[in-house]
Amino acid sequence: MDLLTTLVDKGLRRELPTREEALAVLATSDDDLLDVVAAAGKVRRHWFGRRVKLNYLVNLKSGLCPEDCSYCSQRLGSTTGILKYTWLKPDEASKAAAAGLAGGAKRVCLVASGRGPTDRDVERVAGTIKAIKDQNEGVEVCACLGLLSDGQAERLREAGADAYNHNLNTSEATYGEITTTHTYEDRVDTVQKAHAAGLSACSGLIAGMGESDADLVDVVFSLRELDPDSVPVNFLIPVEGTPLAKEWNLTPQRCLRILAMVRFVCPDAEVRIAGGREVHLRTMQPLALNLANSIFLGDYLTTEGQAGQADLDMIADAGFEIEGTDQVTLPQHRAEHRTAVGGGCGSHESACGGCGGCESHEGGGVCGTATAAATPTVTEPRTEPRTDLVTVRRRGAGTDLAPNA
Ligand code: SF4
Repeated sequence: MDLLTTLVDKGLRRELPTREEALAVLATSDDDLLDVVAAAGKVRRHWFGRRVKLNYLVNLKSGLCPEDCSYCSQRLGSTTGILKYTWLKPDEASKAAAAGLAGGAKRVCLVASGRGPTDRDVERVAGTIKAIKDQNEGVEVCACLGLLSDGQAERLREAGADAYNHNLNTSEATYGEITTTHTYEDRVDTVQKAHAAGLSACSGLIAGMGESDADLVDVVFSLRELDPDSVPVNFLIPVEGTPLAKEWNLTPQRCLRILAMVRFVCPDAEVRIAGGREVHLRTMQPLALNLANSIFLGDYLTTEGQAGQADLDMIADAGFEIEGTDQVTLPQHRAEHRTAVGGGCGSHESACGGCGGCESHEGGGVCGTATAAATPTVTEPRTEPRTDLVTVRRRGAGTDLAPNA
């Protein structure tokens, strides 16, 4: 396909595809899907080889959020029976982090529910970062605490945080349909604050919330404009007790097309498969490693993932290798930029099920903002709800049971 040849050429040059090309990836047929994966896989291998970076989520504070994000089981009014607890103590968080690191994770993502932290919360997290870094040499730490106020990103950086995650989640045009208690602009502002403070910015999206192909392309182009180092791609887990519980509209093939499109638009960013991997990609997960260069090990914030050992086996069986602490995640030009801006952040990424985000950008292309779609939206058939694959987390942080790592 001429389209794929063009996209590979652009990806290797870090040149932005056109909106029409990005939409065309989402509109490819199942017959062409393996060709799409192979093409995006060339771009992935060019920038990241066959390495897979493992991140590990630690939910520092679960539930009880006053915000109303429709996709989130921690939202105001959620009736999902999730674990609810307030801030973990630094040693509790460090213990949870150590389990993930022992399982092969390179970065720990510290996440807290809520609109955003108070300055006291930031000090609390600073203490947790110190405890984790003191007890786990070489670990990278990403914080995901919601909307940041002035000075908080700088304080987190000073405390040793390497990265900050805050997702855009969906397009600017549809953001108000998903959340009413804060705005898309609020999210952009926090990503920019993290970036300006020298933190490695991580910002991504959630697919499967009823958005159109044009919305997906819009949010991914907006992410490229923000220029995050890492882009987590969540596939909505329609959890009972949330307003989007009936939104079962993703197929494994659709997920692969979305990941391929993100790889073509953000070729040298760390693309991470985040929440929903097991639920929506299912047995096609190994194929997705050709598109993304990072995943979460083990469980998510409020739901359980497959066994950590199954993640490790999958990576080995598919012919990929786990990225070590002695390997730099990002391509040289990005790592150098990070050093210049922030004073030595080695790599990036991070994704969480809810609050997080990302940003990114880079030279070469015509960094576009969204305009009208030229390619018709493809409507995928609704899929049978796979509620059997959704299990509320009952182990790890906030419980007496061992974490999954
Ligand atoms: S995504 Fe974050 S801010 Fe939104 S409801 Fe969930 S925990 Fe609260």
